[in-house]
Amino acid sequence: MDIDNRLELVKTFCGLEKDEINLLKEEGIPLEDADRLIENVIGKMEIPLGIAVNFLINGKEVLIPMAIEETSVVAAASNAAKIARVKGGFFTQSTDPVMIGQIQLTGVKDPYNAKMTILSQKERFLEIANEKDPILVKFGGGARDIEVRIIDTPVGKMVITHLLVDCRDAMGANAVNTMAETIAPLIESITGGKVYLRIISNLATKRIARARAIFSKDALGGEEVVEGILQAYAFAFGDPFRATTHNKGIMNGIIAVALATGNDTRALEAGAHSYACITGKYLPLTTWERNEDGDLVGTIELPLAVGIVGGATRAHPVARTSLKILEIKTANELAEIMAAVGLAQNLAALRALATEGIQKGHMSLHAKNIAIMAGAKGDLIDKIAEIMVKEKKIRIDRAEELMKEFS
Ligand code: NAD
Repeated sequence: MDIDNRLELVKTFCGLEKDEINLLKEEGIPLEDADRLIENVIGKMEIPLGIAVNFLINGKEVLIPMAIEETSVVAAASNAAKIARVKGGFFTQSTDPVMIGQIQLTGVKDPYNAKMTILSQKERFLEIANEKDPILVKFGGGARDIEVRIIDTPVGKMVITHLLVDCRDAMGANAVNTMAETIAPLIESITGGKVYLRIISNLATKRIARARAIFSKDALGGEEVVEGILQAYAFAFGDPFRATTHNKGIMNGIIAVALATGNDTRALEAGAHSYACITGKYLPLTTWERNEDGDLVGTIELPLAVGIVGGATRAHPVARTSLKILEIKTANELAEIMAAVGLAQNLAALRALATEGIQKGHMSLHAKNIAIMAGAKGDLIDKIAEIMVKEKKIRIDRAEELMKEFS
C-alpha cells in the first residue's frame, strides 16, 4: 500500500480524525509543544512511524505503531505475528503496575533495629504517601506496602526502604519520587539516621509483563528451522555476548512502541537489561522450547514500566494518536502488547539468523539508505537500490557511480 492507503486503513480501523491524519502526515509535534517538553529546544528530530500488522493478541486484532529509524524491524514483527496467527496469536498477562521507590538511610548504628522500627510504622508511611497523590488514589492506585533491605556498601551498611506504589496507568516516576521524598523525613526522625537518595528504581520487578505464542513448525519452514532457532536460543543462554544481541533484537520492537507512545525508553532499557541478569548471569529475556507436536513455543517475561497518562504520553500529539491506534484502556494492556511485540521481534530475528542470515532481509532497505546517502531522490532511490541489490554491491561508492550514470 502507499502511505495514503495505509492511513485510510488505520483510520477505518480506529476512527482517526482528519486533524490526527494531518498530524501524522505533515505536521508532527508543534515547536511550541516541543519547547515545553525539554529545555533549550532548537527544533525537532523526526523518526518514521510505521504500523506493525497481523498481531492477534488475546484474540483481538491490534495495529501497532512503532517509531524507529532502523530498517526491517516493522516488517520482521509483522511477519512473525503472521506466523503466530496460525496457532492463535499471542497470549499475554501482567502483574499489577507496582513500582518501587527507594529511600537510602545511612548513619544508623543498629540497621536491623532500624528496619523493624520502619516496618512497625508501615500504615503511617502509606497514609502520608497517599495524601500526596489523591488523583492516583482516586484511580485505584497508591502506596501499597513497604519493604526494608539492609545492604553492604563500601562505606558500611545502609538501610534501604522500598515504597511499593501501584501506579495504575502512569509510568509513575514523578508520582513515586514525590512519595519517597514525602516519607523520608519520618524515616530519619524515627531511626535517627540520615537520608540521602529518594528515587524510583527502574528495576521494576513488581511490574512484569509476559507473553507467549506457539509458532507452527510448518509455518516456520519445517523442523530444521525449529532446530536452528532452538540452537540459537541455547547459544544466547550460554553466552552473554550473544544474549546481549538477542535481547537487543527484542528491545528493537519494545522500544519502537515505547517511543511511538511517548514512553521513557531509557527506563525500559535499564530495567530490561538489569532483569536479564537478575540471577547473576545475563540471560535471554525470552525462552524457546519445542512442544509435543514439534512446534516452537516462545515466552517472554520482563519489567515494563509504561504509562498512558503522564510524562510525554499525553503531551506529545503523535504519542496520543499512537495510543488511539492501539485502542487500549490501561497501561497494563500497553505493557502486554509490548511484550508480544518483543517476542515477535525475537522470533523473526532468530528465524532469519538460523536460516538465510540477517543480511538478506536487511539489504534491500539498507540499499535504499545508501542510495539516499549518495544523494538520490524520489524514484532514483528505488532504481539505484535495486541495481545494487542485484549486483550484491550495496556500497556507497557504487551508489555514487550510479548517481553519476543517471544524472
Ligand atoms: P506524571 O507525574 O506526569 O503523571 C502521573 C500522575 O497522573 C499521577 O501521579 C496521577 O496523579 C495522575 N493520573 C491521572 N490519571 C491517572 C491514572 N489513570 N493512573 C495513574 N495516574 C493518573 O508522570 P509519571 O508517570 O509519574 O512520571 C513519568 C515521567 O517521569 C516520565 O516522563 C519519565 O521520563 C520521568 N522520570 C523518570 C525517572 C526514572 O525513570 N528514573 C526519574 C524521573 C523522572
